[in-house]
Amino acid sequence: MSGHRVLAAALVEPGHYELREYPLPSPALDCLLVRIEVSGICGTDKHTYLGYTGQYGGQGTPKQIPFPIIQGHENVGTIAAIGGDGRCTDFEGIPLKVGDRVIVGPNVSCGTCYFCRHDFPYYCCENTVDYGNNISAKDPPHLFGGWSQYLYVVPGSFLVRVPDDLPSEIAVLTEIMAVTVGLDRAKQISSFPNESFLFDDTVVVLGTGPLGMCFVMKARMLGAGTVVAIDLSDYRLDFARRLGADVILNARQTSGVERLARVRELTHGRGADVVIECAGVPEAVREGLEMLRVGGLLVEAGNFSDMGEISLSPHRHLCAKNVRILGVGGEEPAAYGRSMRQMVRYQRHYPLREFVTHRFGLRQVEAAMQKSMAADSMKVVIDPWS
Ligand SMILES: [Zn+2]
Ligand SMILES: [Zn+2]
Repeated sequence: MSGHRVLAAALVEPGHYELREYPLPSPALDCLLVRIEVSGICGTDKHTYLGYTGQYGGQGTPKQIPFPIIQGHENVGTIAAIGGDGRCTDFEGIPLKVGDRVIVGPNVSCGTCYFCRHDFPYYCCENTVDYGNNISAKDPPHLFGGWSQYLYVVPGSFLVRVPDDLPSEIAVLTEIMAVTVGLDRAKQISSFPNESFLFDDTVVVLGTGPLGMCFVMKARMLGAGTVVAIDLSDYRLDFARRLGADVILNARQTSGVERLARVRELTHGRGADVVIECAGVPEAVREGLEMLRVGGLLVEAGNFSDMGEISLSPHRHLCAKNVRILGVGGEEPAAYGRSMRQMVRYQRHYPLREFVTHRFGLRQVEAAMQKSMAADSMKVVIDPWS
């Protein structure tokens, strides 16, 4: 295969892509080459494109995006080559061979830092490298993001084999579906008295882009009661209803006061048991805290990039209300296989095949990015071969 050229879309600075050609590498020992089939546009990619380039702030190892990068960390593809003796297994121990369809987990953790050794989520690793995000395309073998015909997989990455009965345009949702592991964690917390999230609890999802939509589905799968979806787009809210939301509220046509009143009305004045923030704007956090019942739980998953600050009343929003806030900065590798099997199962109940609304080639990445931020799109994907 060497000698071939690989096409990729490189983001050279916020707002500016270049179509570039790179040499096709052959994988070194413990490395792989994956031929990308589809790669999703994630909320993080949108934030980076818009110039919000700070990530992992507030940790010991904050990061800035090292331009140029090849974006794309929601990657589905087939194994094109395996380095070394050609043997490898997926995260669940399934042997992998050339031609197998896989998801490549977006982060690579070191396994030896304090957080890795103390059972923190793998994205808390002090030395994490993230495909499509914080590995520069400047240095060979360059291909560290999925908006490229091939992805170069480095040692320590995890791969998960895609079930044969899961179409790639659904498998591409696996990363965001895996982020909803935040609700599984909430479920564990609920084993303590008065804590959310219990069977039949009222759940509000703020922001029903693709991630929020997966939380709507997951809340329903895990036994939520009333699910309220709030977004600026009627198009997205209609889809949220089809994925299990009972009540939808358009944030353009209602005031914050009206939305709060509606949530209280639905809960006999108490407020929501759980609010999940997926709007990815700081202001939504305050709205979410206001909607919570006393002792309720806010899951914060939307502001993965540093989008700025808000003011809170520590008395009114936190202390007097006895709230819990669960920051969810990513997913867990073990959630990948489970999410895929559940999506296979729920294909019958949910219109998962309609989740990907637009496909674009590498020459149209700019248009793809614009579409992903438009009110009339759900998941937008890059197909690097079209
Ligand atoms: Zn993502
Ligand atoms: Zn580590």
